[in-house]
Amino acid sequence: MKIITRIEDLQNELAPLRNEGKQIGFVPTMGYLHEGHEKLLSEARRNNDVIVLSIFVNPLQFGANEDLDKYPRDMDRDEQVAKNHDVDFIFFPTVQEMYPEEPSVTVKVMKRTNVLCGTSRPGHFDGVATVLTKLFNIVHPDRAYFGLKDAQQVAVVEGLVSDLNIPVEIVRVEIVREEDGLAKSSRNVYLLEEERQEAKELNASLQLAKTSIQDGERNPEIIRKLMTEYLTKATNGKIDYIEIYSYPSLEPIKELQGQCIIALAVAFKSARLIDNIIFTI
Ligand code: AMP
Repeated sequence: MKIITRIEDLQNELAPLRNEGKQIGFVPTMGYLHEGHEKLLSEARRNNDVIVLSIFVNPLQFGANEDLDKYPRDMDRDEQVAKNHDVDFIFFPTVQEMYPEEPSVTVKVMKRTNVLCGTSRPGHFDGVATVLTKLFNIVHPDRAYFGLKDAQQVAVVEGLVSDLNIPVEIVRVEIVREEDGLAKSSRNVYLLEEERQEAKELNASLQLAKTSIQDGERNPEIIRKLMTEYLTKATNGKIDYIEIYSYPSLEPIKELQGQCIIALAVAFKSARLIDNIIFTI
């Protein structure tokens, strides 16, 4: 496994492999790897010859009052996790390497961003789309792996590669959860003990919705109300949103039909958590 910090060095390593016809699988992350990231790596390993893992905490996707400076990092551990998954290259650039000067071009996402996390994180998805466009152009992967934990990100990325004709297959990977149902996240380390206990209620509220849908409920408003009541009682966190849309277009629906998403964000004092379920009716 090689750890590469310079764009040109990575391109020089990958070009001959690509010419030999090797399939390249790409897993972009911000590091502090956990089992969610590991699932992406295993999927990538199964279906590609060469695996590139990027670790880059992208300043462009953080708002002014967000956790850019305190985002958890542990490169030694990440290296070990990557080795265990037989990663070929870790791309670990500095901010200076990725953005040597004020960008002259960025990507602006026009759809799928005025809902869910897009509302409370203005500019976030533009930052994600911009860095991914750069990374796709640097790595030229055959496939790139994204977790449905960040379902809105998956929807935005699918729109990005489709609209800009970026020749990469986007592979959706299911959410990996803790035993009590909490979706794994690098930010879970911020949670105080009491908040960690309550954090499982996010998934519990989604399961409640699922049961209600299985029992025949099709009205998004009734499901939202059910979840809001449940979460208000079960946690001290502030509900940022509970929303229901078609997926991946993220358009409002009057009745559950086709592929849909129920997504929520709850802000605890120490961290804001997101979760979702996607299902087809
Ligand atoms: P991050 O390092 O948080 O930017 O995440 C990198 C990738 O890992 C993204 O595609 C995430 O959706 C994915 N990911 C993070 N947590 C999970 C999880 N619990 N299950 C599946 N994928 C995840």
